[in-house]
Amino acid sequence: MLDSLRKIVQEVNNARDFPSLLKIIVAQVKMTMATGMCSIYLLDKQSSRYVLCATEGLLPEAVGTVAMPSDEGLVGLVASRAEPINLEHAGTHPRFTAFPESGEEKYSSFLGAPIIHHREVLGVLVVQQQQRRKFDESEEAFLVTISAQLAGTIAHAEATGELALTTSPGSQKTRETSYHGIGSAPGIGIGEAVVLSSPSDLHAVPKRRAEDAKAELRQFRKALRSTRSDISAIQIELTGTLNKEELAMFDVYVSLLDDRSLGGEVVALIREGFTAQSAWSQVILEHVRTFKRMDNEYLRERAADVRDLGRRVLEHMQQTSKSARVFPKNVILMGEELAASHLAEIPLEDIRAIVSVRGSQNSHMAIIGRSMGIPTVMGAIDLPLTEMDGLQIIVDGHLGQVIPNPSRKVLRAYKATYRDEQALAKDLLSTVDEPCITADKDPVSLWVNTGLRVDVQLSLEYGAEGVGLYRTEIPFFLQERFPSEEEQRVIYREQLELYAPRPVTMRTLDIGGDKALPYFPIEEENPFLGWRGIRVTLDHPEIFLAQVRAMMRASQGLDNLRILLPMISNTLEMDSAVALINRAYLELTVEEGFRLEMPKIGAMIEVPAAVYQTRELAQRADFLSVGTNDLTQYLLAVDRNNPRVSELYHSFHPALLAALKEILLQAKAADCEVSVCGEMAGDPLGAVLLVGLGYRTLSMSATNLLRVKAVLRQLKTSEMDDVAALACTLSDAAAIKSSLKQALDRPGIARLIRAQSTMNH
Ligand code: PEP
Ligand code: MG
Repeated sequence: MLDSLRKIVQEVNNARDFPSLLKIIVAQVKMTMATGMCSIYLLDKQSSRYVLCATEGLLPEAVGTVAMPSDEGLVGLVASRAEPINLEHAGTHPRFTAFPESGEEKYSSFLGAPIIHHREVLGVLVVQQQQRRKFDESEEAFLVTISAQLAGTIAHAEATGELALTTSPGSQKTRETSYHGIGSAPGIGIGEAVVLSSPSDLHAVPKRRAEDAKAELRQFRKALRSTRSDISAIQIELTGTLNKEELAMFDVYVSLLDDRSLGGEVVALIREGFTAQSAWSQVILEHVRTFKRMDNEYLRERAADVRDLGRRVLEHMQQTSKSARVFPKNVILMGEELAASHLAEIPLEDIRAIVSVRGSQNSHMAIIGRSMGIPTVMGAIDLPLTEMDGLQIIVDGHLGQVIPNPSRKVLRAYKATYRDEQALAKDLLSTVDEPCITADKDPVSLWVNTGLRVDVQLSLEYGAEGVGLYRTEIPFFLQERFPSEEEQRVIYREQLELYAPRPVTMRTLDIGGDKALPYFPIEEENPFLGWRGIRVTLDHPEIFLAQVRAMMRASQGLDNLRILLPMISNTLEMDSAVALINRAYLELTVEEGFRLEMPKIGAMIEVPAAVYQTRELAQRADFLSVGTNDLTQYLLAVDRNNPRVSELYHSFHPALLAALKEILLQAKAADCEVSVCGEMAGDPLGAVLLVGLGYRTLSMSATNLLRVKAVLRQLKTSEMDDVAALACTLSDAAAIKSSLKQALDRPGIARLIRAQSTMNH
């Protein structure tokens, strides 16, 4: 059964389009289960009916005409109960409804399984047989398994509008197909899509048209020549290691590039107007699909060869075309999994919005988007990336929506919202010189999280009182190797100088997890629980020492440096890191003669273990900083990058509130200062909650600073205490959020909170 299942799923993945995919499912399931018929019914959301969309065994003309709501028929019963129904004689069941036009009267036994995606019933998969018998347990389990496997594919078709076209064939694909993701940085962005593909990813190559076919042909031929010479170089290297027959395989491999083979098909597509890269990836992927479908195992294996060849040629083409690309002035940056390094390719001031197919609201790309004030949508998993390049796009960072080719009406509406937002931002600018004090004059320090150069400008403009978190890994991302001590000193000096005399908290390198340096890849099964943050740098004292030495040397004469240690999960890590910092300080001052003040050293509280050791860590540190992004992830066991569980990632979870209370209590008992630097601090609702819990230093993206200040200035501390006290009595995150919203639903505040709707669901 497992083999058949795999085969069906593979066939389905190779289907050309949605209708053929449905046909494959019904044909394969019918054959594998040796039944008389297999049909698939899908929910038409407009009419709320389950429509017969594909069948093997019923009359073909019934497709698209037989349909029933969830309170009618056996299919409706499977859908409404959301569980399988297995009947020996369907005709005698009270819910049986006859559809003579389908030709189903000859069947007796019935087995139906719901197709469920994210708790929603999208359709029903049915098998029937003439012979009166109950399907056995293993058959039922098979149908349930197949339905579960197909649910994601069907949900994708729903998102792209193909499902609607299938359930109501007369309907037009609406011009405003919109794609949903996770709103990760608020705001509206309107511009032209620029899809940045990961190098040599055949699936990510945009289907783009070219203006100059001759130039494309030249580029293609050049890439072929380079690939041929690469392969013959490998062949020469392996002579002596491989025998003659094995070496001859390389000739076969190279011959695939000939005009009589793959090359010829690509040339034809280029002549039709496609870019060389797009033509090449289309041809290669088609051949990979064909090989994968073959029954002969040897031929199936050849799919990998074709794919490999495909990547090699593509890589050469990408190298030549990279420098030639001219970007528009209003870029909607899109990619499969965008990372900080992609930002280096386009001038930052030209980026209007960011859309990433993978990732979630707490991925680092999202944090960077927020810190730069660029509307960002993460986890847009259904977005057909290859078709987006060059299209006009609206990105709604509040709702997490991406709208390609908007109609004039929609465009007008979004432009108006954009203007309102600009007006609000302008109003907020008038509060720049006001102090951040609550309505009853209690001061709250607002610091900023930085990493990019643009942060500095904004945060100084907005009156930040200091830097609560400087993510040193960000300048590391933008290099091609580890920066030297001197190179780092120059970068850090700039930060420290620009903010002096205000304190700057520099966090030591926090790589691992979702932050991989291109030149220091860490490949792990479970990276968030692996070699991350302080674990990496303690294992590489040379990297750690160079970094803290650079920081200290950079602070000479300014003395506004604080050093922060990420991912501390036990006291030994803290002791070892402090010992290394002390060593670096002594070397610099005693041995090398620098006149420096010893910087304050802090620990991040972002791992549950650290919450329970707050007091011990506080005794070893000068300050603590709570990283709610990771703390939420680890406390709730929810990957901060995984869109599938993003609904569960919630900074207002009662467990997080309890942890925040505990940290503050223990830090105060040890007389250690404590602040919050996770994204929660920059969300107006989160900030109110944190002040109510007793925190008085919040560090956030510069773009949130004025909004948070405007909210805090309108509330008394006592009111925030009450709001937090009430929140701590509630048992779930949604209730906490709505109680916060209700408490703050008053003129002057509601507008500020509405505009900042992306955090914490
Ligand atoms: C955090 O985890 O809350 C934090 C501030 O660090 P980062 O987001 O860089 O992991
Ligand atoms: Mg963290």
